[in-house]
Amino acid sequence: AAKAAGKNRLAAFEPRLATERHEHMRLSAELRRAVADEEFVVNYQPVVDLATGRVTAVEALLRWSPGGRPVPPTEFIPIAEQYGLIVPIGAWVLRQACRDVRPWHDRFGICVTVNVSGRQLREPDFTRTVLSALRDADLPGSALILEITETVLVSSSTENDEVTVLLSALREEGVRVAVDDFGTGYSSLAYLRHLPVDILKIDRAFTPDGGVAEEMAFTRAIVELGNSLRLSSIAEAVETPEQAARLRELDCPQAQGYHFSRPLPADALDEVLTAGNGILHGVPTPA
Ligand code: C2E
Ligand code: MG
Ligand code: MG
Ligand code: MG
Repeated sequence: AAKAAGKNRLAAFEPRLATERHEHMRLSAELRRAVADEEFVVNYQPVVDLATGRVTAVEALLRWSPGGRPVPPTEFIPIAEQYGLIVPIGAWVLRQACRDVRPWHDRFGICVTVNVSGRQLREPDFTRTVLSALRDADLPGSALILEITETVLVSSSTENDEVTVLLSALREEGVRVAVDDFGTGYSSLAYLRHLPVDILKIDRAFTPDGGVAEEMAFTRAIVELGNSLRLSSIAEAVETPEQAARLRELDCPQAQGYHFSRPLPADALDEVLTAGNGILHGVPTPA
């Protein structure tokens, strides 16, 4: 009986693997076509100053819905990275994001923060891609923040590494660098000492939830690290008024999350920004 059960398990497993591989192949082929047809949309999620409610930036988040069915970025971005497609896709996102933020930057001083893959940073053309996106949108470098995950930054943190040189050059143009998913990459903080970094995006794992003391201790430690290094921290995935209140208590300068706004298409966000005159107070505590 045990042998039969083992065999059944295998039999159930193999078709699933084959289906996954097939799905992967199908997605990569569709992605290639999507790049050619520019089938993507960028949504924007506000980043808010916790003290004033002012929207300081919007994060550009890529959306893809082949045949009307949305595929989450966590599914298609790794495939795009694997096939090098993230290079043209990422360049398109940069251009689109700079163009879309331009009126919000003019009216409210809002910046745009764009996710960048390690694969893009290794392209010799990356600096030129960034600077031409800015120039064509007539946007200053100070309006752009590049989000790079901690894992990518750590793996390139030797002092005169190409990435350090590249980021320093962009920084001279006013472009800022944010460490995305901070706290989940490596326990070593050494890279913060020599990499040109301006902002810590505190991973959702450290957004205070129940207000448990130990949990708050981690959040507090990260916020204090950021404040004492003169890095501006942004807490991610803030969903409730309680979470926003706890972050204010900890002196966390900025936050983003469903409590303030979901990622929205440019025209929808434009209405929200216009209605609030560039200020978002978040969803009030239910009575
Ligand atoms: P990320 O950069 O850490 O982006 C934050 C993710 O958290 C987004 O997921 C956002 O929709 C989600 N989020 C925001 N507020 C909340 C909240 O209150 N609660 C919860 N549960 N989630 C919240 P999304 O849009 O699915 O993107 C997932 C990841 O895909 C991003 O994580 C980023 O790593 C990657 N990604 C998205 N767009 C791009 C892009 O243009 N280029 C690259 N290289 N990566 C991208
Ligand atoms: Mg991000
Ligand atoms: Mg993040
Ligand atoms: Mg993330």
